[in-house]
Amino acid sequence: TRRKLVVGNWKMHGTHKANAELFEGLLAAGPSNADVAVCVPFPFLAEAAVALAASDVRWGAQDCSAHEQGAYTGEVSCGMLHEFGCRYVIVGHSERRAYHAESDQLVADKAKAALAKGVTPIVCVGETLAQRESGETEAVVKRQLSAVIHTLGHCVGEMVVAYEPVWAIGTGKTASPEQAQAVHALLRAQLQAATPHAAAMKILYGGSVKPDNAATLFAQPDIDGGLIGGASLKAADFVAICRAA
Ligand code: 13P
Repeated sequence: TRRKLVVGNWKMHGTHKANAELFEGLLAAGPSNADVAVCVPFPFLAEAAVALAASDVRWGAQDCSAHEQGAYTGEVSCGMLHEFGCRYVIVGHSERRAYHAESDQLVADKAKAALAKGVTPIVCVGETLAQRESGETEAVVKRQLSAVIHTLGHCVGEMVVAYEPVWAIGTGKTASPEQAQAVHALLRAQLQAATPHAAAMKILYGGSVKPDNAATLFAQPDIDGGLIGGASLKAADFVAICRAA
């Protein structure tokens, strides 16, 4: 059986003071049955490393460059993330696809760059409401995942996948456990066709996961944990979600 993974995506939130309180809350909760990580804004990686180094909680970033180094003003390389002890980096979050025009191929290149530096990419896929309503969900997530599968080649098994329906992000509208499981099963089948490691790979669900809906989502056979936005900013809520895993 796959060990569950719960990852907090802080998005563009945090201050030194708020972070210290949040770290303290996570550490006070003690170890969990699931693997737990927080993906913080770049400027807070150093304090995450200091606060979490002696704990089981891992940390990571929310984006990376596809390039190794060079004249790319404002970009952060995976080598830098590795130096800051990042275990994970989120790539292809729908907010980056939407607001920064990230293509499927760019997302795939970022995932490859991360693996090259020993940082595990958490590759996000998911359909918009319009796409769901017009019956395109399967085609959309397949297309998004397929770019990554082709680019990673024999390393496919090393990534984490996150299914995040765009209409469920920050809206309080969670996909039902059945809706989420249906897509996770499709993604698992697609991975199975690409790698012998598919059964061991983690596929996380993200989109309005809260303490009161986490357990039923995580109980689905192909849901291996969650990618948590808003609820990861409150220690009590995040800890409750980790305990549900
Ligand atoms: P919410 O949990 O706030 O809906 O955000 C989900 C998400 O985008 C995590 O990456």
